[in-house]
Amino acid sequence: MERKEIAGLSFISATLNEAVDEALRLILTGKGGMVVTPNAEIGKLAIDDPDFRALLSSADLVVPDGAGVVLAGKLLGAGLKGKIAGIDLGLALLPRLAEHDLPLFLLGSKPGVADAAAEKLCGQVPGLTICGTQHGYFKEDEEIVARIRESGAKALFCCLGAPKQEQWMNAHRAELPGVLMLGLGGTLDVVAGNVKRAPDFFIKCNLEWFYRLLKEPRRIGRMMKLPAYELDVLLLKLGLKKLKGREG
Ligand code: UDP
Repeated sequence: MERKEIAGLSFISATLNEAVDEALRLILTGKGGMVVTPNAEIGKLAIDDPDFRALLSSADLVVPDGAGVVLAGKLLGAGLKGKIAGIDLGLALLPRLAEHDLPLFLLGSKPGVADAAAEKLCGQVPGLTICGTQHGYFKEDEEIVARIRESGAKALFCCLGAPKQEQWMNAHRAELPGVLMLGLGGTLDVVAGNVKRAPDFFIKCNLEWFYRLLKEPRRIGRMMKLPAYELDVLLLKLGLKKLKGREG
């Protein structure tokens, strides 16, 4: 799978279908692993925090979730095939999981949301097995890890928000061998119908971020990370900024 380096992260340059094939391959070969879906906000965090960057870099697939990352690729002349929203990757994987009898566990969001999402998904994807759900406001990790392992899950949607979900997946990947964990942010909220995704027009025009800003103006602080990310990418390209190493 082709990869392009953007500000210290090696993003896949792929179509949605190619990314789904690769994710499925990781499961069918028994490798499992970790899929992260950084957008510009997370990309900025990775620039500023070398430990978090190393964590993201250790993922099996680093998926460019968001127009901001695609723009950064253009600024660097390292064009990506396109944006792959984490939610699109997760949803497109479902029929393939069903086809191969691979059970899915849903982790994250407020109590009740994962159950509602499970019901919706099972109604939409014939043959899909959801082998467990768990809300994202638990205290003890170990009990949850044991439940996921015992459920026989081969895929896990880890929807705890960034950077918590990435840290959680990294902390427990060794205890969940063969499970493909995908960090998918607010996906369960959207599937359950609690949060609406932008209309197609906004998605097609790479303006999904703008729609979310209109709906949730309090996200402005988080969204200002987008221009900060693009600026850093330019400064890195021009040699006016260097990525900090892990020792500082
Ligand atoms: N969340 C969670 N546990 C936590 C913090 C957050 O399960 O301790 C969930 C939250 O309920 C929401 C998701 O993580 O469903 C984060 O959503 P957000 O839209 O912030 O994620 P994004 O896709 O923007 O990263």
